[in-house]
Amino acid sequence: VPLPRRADYGPASHRPPETAMTDDRPAGPVPPFDPGKLKAFLDRLSTEVHAADDWGQVATYIPELADVAPNQFAISVVLADGTRLSAGARSVPFSIQSVSKVFMLACVLGREGDNIWRRVDREPSGDRFDSILLLEQEKGRPRNPFINAGALVTTDAMLANRAPKQALSEFLGFLRAAAGDEDIHIDPSVAASEARYGFRNVALANYLKSYDNLHNAPELTLGTYFHQCAVEMTTDQLAMAGRMIAQLPGAPPLMAPARARRLGALMMTCGHYDGSGDFAFRVGLPGKSGVGGGILMVAPGRASIAIWSPGLNSYGNSKVGTEAAELLTDFTGWSVFS
Ligand code: GLN
Repeated sequence: VPLPRRADYGPASHRPPETAMTDDRPAGPVPPFDPGKLKAFLDRLSTEVHAADDWGQVATYIPELADVAPNQFAISVVLADGTRLSAGARSVPFSIQSVSKVFMLACVLGREGDNIWRRVDREPSGDRFDSILLLEQEKGRPRNPFINAGALVTTDAMLANRAPKQALSEFLGFLRAAAGDEDIHIDPSVAASEARYGFRNVALANYLKSYDNLHNAPELTLGTYFHQCAVEMTTDQLAMAGRMIAQLPGAPPLMAPARARRLGALMMTCGHYDGSGDFAFRVGLPGKSGVGGGILMVAPGRASIAIWSPGLNSYGNSKVGTEAAELLTDFTGWSVFS
């Protein structure tokens, strides 16, 4: 039986009305399931997505992302008992881009705790990830740490008493410890391209500075931000790194449970930018996307999941990756709402 087709996750106005709701999940608690069945499902998912006629558009703002072939897919799942399951291109490193914002925020929360919330809010923006619109209205206090303006503030906070090199090496150390894998690196050519073409981010940083919400010189904060976006990881590594946010037993003790729950809340409300509501509606799990086509998703207490497919939908989130996320949660019954 083929997996049901899911509609594009474009803006509501582009969606055919019959795809507005497919309320076909069984009610009640999630049944315990067999990892063997889940592995078979992931393999089937990986095979079937390759039949997709529309993989979305890869990001084109830098050549390194524009040159990636869109028809690629990988999914990795780590379960609460430590079982690791993957399908597709699980060992291909990709540019994690905005998924890095979750881990940078985790680092900063570890360093300065709730002080960061004086500088950045915790509300969904309803705007594109690189929008400058609300920044003027709200006097330089970004809506949340997952849009670019908010992430620049987080990164700027990471630079308190640290040179960019030191902040980045701490950040990489945190990611490696979270994933239990030393083989995680920054791609210097992606970082250089981000700097070369990141005109909007330059504008956002300068705007923040004009409101005194950037404590370092804009070029220092920007340089650090461009490098954190250029981290490369595989879905296997990313799913391992997500264990602490999913609060899985055996995750490295890098974060208190209360903090993990709050990160999850932010991922749910802000992790997919102006597509966050639709992602929550369809998938029902906190997730964070990046313009490289990665998605990190957590089923608290149950699993950490990473998906990658580089073609994007009109929100700038992975097109096939989002569709696969919905199919996975349909299959497993995982949802923070059940
Ligand atoms: N490097 C990208 C940017 O700053 C990250 C954005 C994203 O992944 N959505 O524009």
